[in-house]
Amino acid sequence: MGRYIKKIEVEKFQDILDRTHNALIISHLNPDGDAIGSSMAMYNYLDGLGINCSVVLPSSYPDYLGFLDNKNPIKIFTKDSKAILDIINSADLVIALDFNQLKRVDELETHIANSSATKVLIDHHPFPVRESFDLVISNTEVSSTCELLFWLFNLMQEPEKEVVESSNVLLDCGVRFNLSLDIAEPLYVGMMTDTNNFANSVSSDTLLMASRLIDLGVDKEKLQNLVFGGFSENRMRLMGHMLLNRMVVLEKYNAGFILFSKEDQERFNYNVGDSEGFVNLPLNIQGVFLSALFTEKEGEIRVSLRSTNDFSVNKFSKLHFNGGGHERAAGGRLNIKFDEVADYFEKALEQSYQNCICDNLCKDNLKSE
Ligand code: 5GP
Ligand code: MN
Repeated sequence: MGRYIKKIEVEKFQDILDRTHNALIISHLNPDGDAIGSSMAMYNYLDGLGINCSVVLPSSYPDYLGFLDNKNPIKIFTKDSKAILDIINSADLVIALDFNQLKRVDELETHIANSSATKVLIDHHPFPVRESFDLVISNTEVSSTCELLFWLFNLMQEPEKEVVESSNVLLDCGVRFNLSLDIAEPLYVGMMTDTNNFANSVSSDTLLMASRLIDLGVDKEKLQNLVFGGFSENRMRLMGHMLLNRMVVLEKYNAGFILFSKEDQERFNYNVGDSEGFVNLPLNIQGVFLSALFTEKEGEIRVSLRSTNDFSVNKFSKLHFNGGGHERAAGGRLNIKFDEVADYFEKALEQSYQNCICDNLCKDNLKSE
């Protein structure tokens, strides 16, 4: 839809693609469904145009997203750094997806920054660092990078000539283009995961996208089961343990958090992705509008933050957790002892809620603009 992407941006992107021989697609550390979905959709799109293309990620993706990587184009920097440096050197185009600053690609950052390739960012996070890229296609109103790609691909395609009945709502909305299933599926997955299964940031356009993708052959039940079903027994028991023993509710702050220690990870044979969605669990409690998940990692603590009101976790994360993200979904990291996390979180909340002026829910300076 033209309202999300400017015509000039589409033309520039098309012009860049016309000159490209070797494209490199990158996305962020700890890639999620939107990172993998947008990378694979772009990979299959460029492949369809006959452009030689690679996908490189700074770290592994969770097992449940593996079905999107069925042609195995994804390379992980921590596992294959030598081959990846060659790929970066030979790329004449880098397409960065689903992040707003190069810091988010971790150890790849300097290699990408030093590359002489044309750099394009396509993303939906606030405040993209424009100086790092030659072209930025960014919009925070869409649900996901996958949704932005859906509209971009739409705008890049010639409208169909054939006339259909005027009652055809897709025609009225200008969304009648075709996409092959290997592009439609990953786009659907990225949108579905970034909206937490259609719970957040879903506009009527997001539903239009879903509708069109289903018309194009996406099997929504299959994807639903692959992404949100089929969990391991370990994960389900881990979730029970987290809810019963590791979730803390701070009524005073309308907040809840979960502490996920290394000890618990070992006890439940944790695999990447097993804690997917845990950060949302406290939000199911009446009166809880802010939640956090703290995961103990090698040398640092990963922080995930969510809110369901106008408390900006993006700003909260920038202020206290060395991170950022969206207004209602953000992440970051801490370098303190794991047993100090609960106190740290409460103090951060205390600071943020001082001088509270909005119905005792959030401090004015943490409201989203
Ligand atoms: P998650 O909690 O799912 O890891 O991340 C939620 C959102 O915050 C995602 O959009 C993700 O891109 C962003 N995010 C996660 N970690 C960081 C971080 O360390 N820095 C920044 N700037 N954004 C992050
Ligand atoms: Mn995203």
